[in-house]
Parts: sequence; structure tokens; C-alpha cells
Amino acid sequence: MNIAENLEQIHKRIARAAMAADRDPASVRLVAVSKTRPAADVSAAFQAGQPLFGENYVQELSLKASSVAEPVEWHFIGHLQSNKVKYIAGLVSMIHSLDRLSLAEEVSRQWGKLGKSCDVLVQVNIAGEKTKSGTAADELLLLVRAISSLPYLKVRGLMTMPPFFDDPDAARPYFAELKRLSQVVGSEGIPGVEMKELSMGMSGDFEVAIQEGATLVRVGSAIFGDRYYG
Ligand SMILES: *Cc1c(COP(=O)(O)O)cnc(C)c1O
Repeated sequence: MNIAENLEQIHKRIARAAMAADRDPASVRLVAVSKTRPAADVSAAFQAGQPLFGENYVQELSLKASSVAEPVEWHFIGHLQSNKVKYIAGLVSMIHSLDRLSLAEEVSRQWGKLGKSCDVLVQVNIAGEKTKSGTAADELLLLVRAISSLPYLKVRGLMTMPPFFDDPDAARPYFAELKRLSQVVGSEGIPGVEMKELSMGMSGDFEVAIQEGATLVRVGSAIFGDRYYG
């Protein structure tokens, strides 16, 4: 498993997908999802030029962050419990998985203590899957409006995880729907709310997501190899 080579391949594929969709490859940022991988893998990826990493679990993130010497940027992408927000306050530069008002209030409260503001994406559960987090599409606008008045939190866009399909093209309608929802929210002109980021696409389907407008792709196993749960 060569992390540097894998990263190079992923960047080629990102560029190809972006250009095929008439997009600037630089408009797509790669979030290297390092969950379940050791800190040494994060360091290796950073040395190979990857600055941005995504983690799903609070405890794993805080342990790993303290053992990675390089100045990496962290995003939190997993389901987040309100009582754990304090452990990642100031540590992550973005939360992709904001999905309810009570969580947003706690994020604002904890970042406020630091005198900083947290960038968030609102996670949308487009398929309405019971096993997945995310706000329902028809409650999105109400949630964004409620969140927008919180002082230490900035809504920057949306995130989704479609149902799992073997065929990446089957995920396309979910990506297209997230883009449509972001345009709906964006057109409301809610003060302080930006719809610049679309976090969608993983190892199996990031090229399709880029064709549909992804600005952040969250790729784990295609960089680090199959996950192991040590
Ligand atoms: C694990 C995970 C990813 C990366 O998945 P891969 O299939 O390994 O690329 C992306 N997003 C979230 C929310 C994840 O939990």
C-alpha cells in the first residue's frame, strides 16, 4: 500500500472528472478520510502533499491529532453527539455533519468560548434512510434559518451520503438533488449563510459527485487501503 502513489492517482482522477464537467480541478478539495488508520498514515499522506483529513469519531480524532506532528487540517465528518463537541472545539476547521439545532447550539457555544467561529455543512439525508444521520430534505430550510442566527457558527454548504450502490452512477440523482437543495437554500439569501461547498462523493463514487458539483470529496479506502478495525 503506497499512500503517495494512491494520492497521485486520486488527484489525476479528480482532475479528469472536473475537466470532463468543465470545472476547474482546483475547485475540488480532497478530504483524506483517515478513520481507523494510524497517525503514521496521516503523517505519510501529509508528507506526500495532502493537507486535509477527515475523521468520524471524536475520541479517535483527539488521540490522533495529538500524535500527528505535522500541521494538518482536520474536518469532522461523522455523527456527532452534543456532549462531545467540547473535545473537538478549535481542533477542526469544519464540521460536515451538522444535522440538528441542538447540536448547532452546542457547536456555537463551544467555539464561542474560544472566541472563534466554526464552519459547518448541513448534512441532508436525501433518501430518508433510518440508519443514516442528516436532516430530512423538507426540513432543511427551517434548520438553516434557525442555525443562521447562532453567533459562532457559519453555514458554508451541504453534505450528503447517498445509499450504498455497487454502481456509482446510481448515486448520481442524490448528488444532483443535494446541488439542487443548495441552490434553493442559496436563493433565500439568508444572512450569514453561504452555499459554496458541496461535500459529496467517497472512494466508490467521487468522480460522479464531481460531475454533479462536489467541492469536497471524502475519500478513505482509495488512499489508505481497506479499513481495518484494529
Ligand atoms: C468512511 C467515510 C468516508 C470515506 O469512505 P471510503 O469509501 O473509504 O472512501 C466518507 N465519508 C464518511 C462520512 C465516512 O464515514
